[in-house]
Amino acid sequence: MEISKDRTLKPDTTFKIGGPAKFFARIETPAELREVLAFRKTHNLNLFVLGGGSNILVSDRGFDGLVIHPVNKGITVVEEGAREIELRIQAAETWDDAVGFAVERQWWGIENLSHIPGQAGAALVQNIGAYGAQLCDIFQSAEVMEVTTGEIRILDREACRLGYRSSIFNTTHEGRFIILSLRIRLAKLGRPNLQYPDVCEYFEQGRGTSPSLVEIRKAIIAIRDAKFPFPREEKGGNAGSFFKNLLLTEAEYLRLEDQIQRNFNQDLVAKLRALARKFQPAERIKIPAAFLIDACGLKGYRIGGTQVNPTQSLVLLNQGGATARDVLSLACHVRRTVYKKTGVAIQLEPELVGFTPAELAEFMSLE
Ligand SMILES: Cc1cc2nc3c(=O)[nH]c(=O)nc-3n(C[C@H](O)[C@H](O)[C@H](O)COP(=O)(O)OP(=O)(O)OC[C@H]3O[C@@H](n4cnc5c(N)ncnc54)[C@H](O)[C@@H]3O)c2cc1C
Repeated sequence: MEISKDRTLKPDTTFKIGGPAKFFARIETPAELREVLAFRKTHNLNLFVLGGGSNILVSDRGFDGLVIHPVNKGITVVEEGAREIELRIQAAETWDDAVGFAVERQWWGIENLSHIPGQAGAALVQNIGAYGAQLCDIFQSAEVMEVTTGEIRILDREACRLGYRSSIFNTTHEGRFIILSLRIRLAKLGRPNLQYPDVCEYFEQGRGTSPSLVEIRKAIIAIRDAKFPFPREEKGGNAGSFFKNLLLTEAEYLRLEDQIQRNFNQDLVAKLRALARKFQPAERIKIPAAFLIDACGLKGYRIGGTQVNPTQSLVLLNQGGATARDVLSLACHVRRTVYKKTGVAIQLEPELVGFTPAELAEFMSLE
């Protein structure tokens, strides 16, 4: 195991933005991980675990500490019955390769999560979700290492507390564990999950009502590609949705409707009402943050080298040469404008890495 110094993080992120890590280590085994955690302790370093870099924004100054990058790949069958199968996926396995692996073998449950970039370990951190499915639907347990002791533990579903883009790993226990592998349970005799509006529409256009797993995966990739620019070298970069969607209580929804009534027109109120019905039934009322961003006229808005994606305004684009400061300035402008006009404080989805508390306070303020 080698620890490199002052390694730039830019190429390791899908945003293609960010300065260097003071120390950087690729980790394949628990023994290597313990060794590097001991190095960290001796030198009293800040720690960051870097997966595929698709849900982070790294500061232009970089990260003043140790970056650990897991590289342990592999998928194994750990239990198999007539109806279900349980897989262990190593943390550094590419999530979409795991989806492809399951679909090829006719195992149901993760096909709607096709084409989400990044590693399997990180998929658990924010309980990835898309097109009516979430990791928590099939997740069983995770093997993790405790950062301070090097002890390996198994955390079950309950212990991981998975919610909307959240788990203990990005909330209550942030920084405490490194995920080594996860176990998921898939169905051998599954049924297509076509409830989500975009997926439903896709198959209603004469493409059949009982699609195969391969057809569903193909559909999800086609729907995503039309909206989410999959980060590729030649096209700048992005980190997927930069803002979280809203999950509102009835009272919060009514306050929003009232603000839209006051500050916009009746047409927009009608659209808001239609959206509130679109994702039912659900415990909370889901309103896409993109609806508010578009209503505020921010689609395509630019600052420096960054732009609100003209085709899906949840996404902020690096149009080439953008800095982290450009991205945060744009995010800050979007949040303040939306807050002023609708009273809603939209939340960021990616993790901000290497920023000072003063910078975070400056950019996150709604005033
Ligand atoms: C084009 C595009 C589309 C996207 N679409 C979706 C989508 O539909 N749904 C969705 O939910 N997300 C989506 N995302 C966001 C992102 O792909 C997911 O959040 C993904 O799971 C992040 O994986 P990563 O390996 O890149 O994690 P990173 O960005 O490297 O890290 C994310 C977080 O996980 C932590 N982490 C990583 N590995 C470990 C580990 N082994 N142990 C402990 N902590 C760890 C990091 O420290 C960091 O806090 C999209 C992103 C892009 C660029």
